[in-house]
Amino acid sequence: MSIEQRAQAVRRRIEAAGGDDRVQLIGVTKGFGPEVVRSALDAGIVDFGESYAQEFVAKAVAVSEDGGQSGPTWHFIGRLQRNKVRSIAPWVSLWHSVDRERLAIEIAKHAGSAAVLVQVDATAEPAKGGCPPAEVAPLVKRCSELGLVVRGLMAMGHADDPDRTSEAFASTNELADRLGLVERSMGMSGDLEAAVAAGSTMVRVGTALFGPRPPRAEVKH
Ligand SMILES: *Cc1c(COP(=O)(O)O)cnc(C)c1O
Repeated sequence: MSIEQRAQAVRRRIEAAGGDDRVQLIGVTKGFGPEVVRSALDAGIVDFGESYAQEFVAKAVAVSEDGGQSGPTWHFIGRLQRNKVRSIAPWVSLWHSVDRERLAIEIAKHAGSAAVLVQVDATAEPAKGGCPPAEVAPLVKRCSELGLVVRGLMAMGHADDPDRTSEAFASTNELADRLGLVERSMGMSGDLEAAVAAGSTMVRVGTALFGPRPPRAEVKH
């Protein structure tokens, strides 16, 4: 199947779950090279998600050197160390994984009034990153004070518990409502239906568009 056909299949899944074409489809290209981004651009995908700073910058540079008028819009979706912020800042359009004040300060320092999402640890799995739900409101406020533009919340589902995943998406959606935030970045290849049903506005899809990721090289990020 071509990327275009896979993207259509993902769109159909979104629709079947009650979403429409306002649900933004972010193609997650982590683990793949610039050629996959190029093919996806040709297939009409414009938003791309990346998780590893070094790999991301190399890829963004390579794709930008192609020229052309419609380049990718990059989303940083992975866990982020403060010392990586500066190198990726020129490329990132939306930061999905802001989960602590010190990271927000670093982003504000290098990317001024950047658009961000606050990542919520909605399944109580701190290893995945995310801010505990009770600390989200103060972090949103702090981000705004720093000059960042908080567009919404991001959450991940539980790896193997569909009930906890649905609860996590529903509670994140409610929290975004309560805080008056528009965007909800929720849903990946395996749980996008649950996310869309709970009100997701952007799904981050890798495997369902590009197939299994190649094993990661032994590089430090
Ligand atoms: C890798 C990743 C995805 C995409 O996962 P798939 O299961 O391949 O769709 C989405 N969101 C985040 C934060 C990721 O790290």
